[in-house]
Amino acid sequence: MSYLFQNYKRSNIEFVKAQGNELIDKNGNKYLDFSSGIGVTNLGFHPLLIDALQQQINLIWHTPNLYINTLQEEVAKSLVDDQDYCVYFCNSGAEANEAAIKLARKFTSKQSIICFEQSFHGRTYGAMSATGQSKIKYGFGDGVPHFSFAKFNDIESVKSLISSDTAAIMLELIQGESGIHLAQSTFINQLNQLCKDNNILLIIDEIQTGIGRTGTLFAYEQYGIQPDIITSAKGLANGIPCGAMIGHRRLSHAFDYGSHGSTFGGNKLAMTVAKETLSILNDKEFLDQISLKGKILLTKLKKQLNDNTNVIDIRGKGLMIGIETTLNIEQLVNEARRRGLIVLPAGKNVIRLLPPLTITSQQIDKAISILNQIFNKKY
Ligand SMILES: *Cc1c(COP(=O)(O)O)cnc(C)c1O
Repeated sequence: MSYLFQNYKRSNIEFVKAQGNELIDKNGNKYLDFSSGIGVTNLGFHPLLIDALQQQINLIWHTPNLYINTLQEEVAKSLVDDQDYCVYFCNSGAEANEAAIKLARKFTSKQSIICFEQSFHGRTYGAMSATGQSKIKYGFGDGVPHFSFAKFNDIESVKSLISSDTAAIMLELIQGESGIHLAQSTFINQLNQLCKDNNILLIIDEIQTGIGRTGTLFAYEQYGIQPDIITSAKGLANGIPCGAMIGHRRLSHAFDYGSHGSTFGGNKLAMTVAKETLSILNDKEFLDQISLKGKILLTKLKKQLNDNTNVIDIRGKGLMIGIETTLNIEQLVNEARRRGLIVLPAGKNVIRLLPPLTITSQQIDKAISILNQIFNKKY
């Protein structure tokens, strides 16, 4: 009997140790990690992060947000690198999106938010209400009102939902949970213009796409836009719970004294690891390597699997890659694990690869060989 709610389907395996990009189970078996948690331990179990955390624990691990926190200032500065934005820290992706929704409503004095079908923004009531998947909302009664859902990559469907009460449009640039669906750049340009023309805030959820995942600190940088609000979490402190809502400074009066808050938000442990994570990522060469490794992985996968009748499509950006398949994804994930490779499912029929950004070319080749085996196996 388990004392836990059974809200997760857990594999019968426990990781008890990590070494760089490898995970080790109770029996000493080693696995190559192509999941990074779920896009969380983006730098693997990096020695510089371990050092930073250990040093901070020995000093102090929590102070309330009633006192100056220099680490928060430092992390905020490296997140925005631009005096036009400010940052609010929380502990998770859902919380970052809650803050974004609250800020957008309060700043505009409007309530409606346009989101997208198949999106994922989190499990709290606001974030769940912004999520365009009925299975996420099933059984939980009324959500937060005034959310509507457009078709991804379809500007006309967005236009048809705009009203005088539209506060914001909110989206992921690559829908992660629902199967690695990429926003087209023409669509994003049109959306950006639509927001400007109609005084609507643009909220980009970078919780999975951010922190180097697609080859730039945030994916929006590759679309040539300046969102009004950006949310981050997952890889931000490489696995120490941490979220952030980044908003344009002109919105800041709506988040004034007493308007919002979090006891743990901007915690010293999270901040010290976030600071180190961002200093590693704040390096053009490291980011370019991510793009390059992503291109190599995608090209090699296509070469190996494009003729495979079980594979429908292979797509992605940077080190965020999906393989759409006709096979049973649970079976595929299990087969990969049996061969020492950890991969993730996404949506109904996609194998999702989110390797650590520190992955080596040898590790990429090893993963490709295992993926080749599992897609060619007779089931
Ligand atoms: C994971 C995720 C969230 C939710 O983050 P939590 O930390 O689990 O609350 C929100 N949006 C996107 C795009 C995500 O991938």
